[in-house]
Amino acid sequence: MDLGIKGKRALVCASSKGLGRGCAEALAEAGVNLVINARGSEALEATAQHIRNTYGVSVETVACDVTTQDGQAQLLEVAGQVDILVNNAGGPPPGMWTDWERDDFIAALDANMLTPIALIKALVPCMMERGWGRVVNITSRSVKSPLDVLGLSNSARAGLTGYVAGMSRQVASSGVVINNLLPGSHATDRIAALDKGASEKKGVSVDEARNARQASNPTRRDGTAEEFGHTCAFMCSQYAGYMIGQNVLLDGGEFNSTL
Ligand code: NAP
Repeated sequence: MDLGIKGKRALVCASSKGLGRGCAEALAEAGVNLVINARGSEALEATAQHIRNTYGVSVETVACDVTTQDGQAQLLEVAGQVDILVNNAGGPPPGMWTDWERDDFIAALDANMLTPIALIKALVPCMMERGWGRVVNITSRSVKSPLDVLGLSNSARAGLTGYVAGMSRQVASSGVVINNLLPGSHATDRIAALDKGASEKKGVSVDEARNARQASNPTRRDGTAEEFGHTCAFMCSQYAGYMIGQNVLLDGGEFNSTL
């Protein structure tokens, strides 16, 4: 399917691995030129080379921590005017509701709420001037259905979701389309780390922890970064112009609701 975005330019944050990489690859497959980012340069350069070789698009890399002001400045300098922004960063650590102090909340808010907001504020005005833009924020199913051990994530992502709900409608008439994409359980390093934590807590093997988690999903499996990335690419396509301020849940039907 031609998504109608060939030749556009995208900044995809936190994208050397996992869901961010899935989004970068699907956009590249649609002909989008990329700026990709991660803290570690080895995996970042390997991913960039793979994407150039496979899809023939241009890929620039920025090795930095997207959650810092310095990292954001580096990214914005290289990215310049982009048509598409995919916001992503690592998720906060798990724990108990009694564990977290003010500094833990500030760090989670910085990473998963204030960083995407800063990049939206920096890049959306140029999209509005040019009359076309797409922003996808990778959040989490936790905004619909909380994971009890991920209280920092539940809190910070809820804040971003509230911000996007209002501002996406303020900019929609200028041709800028902003939505959130909510992963459920996707096979990445992040979910492997959470399975390891659950196995240690329950005294079972990692396989048993993963099998127990997957047994409660209607698909009985984890999603893939490829499935996630292609959904993101559609949300960045010409055909997503009437999709405003939505929270698209990709969780294999695990969140049990009729609507
Ligand atoms: P992942 O497999 O751990 O990949 C994370 C990617 O982001 C890597 O490329 C990593 O590279 C980069 N990264 C992490 N922190 C960064 C930072 N501060 N600055 C720049 N790059 C950074 O994670 P994932 O599973 O793709 O998850 C992506 C997001 O979705 C996370 O916020 C996660 O909490 C959320 N999520 C995931 C799932 C799931 O099932 N996978 C479910 C719900 C929510 P470096 O380490 O080299 O920086």
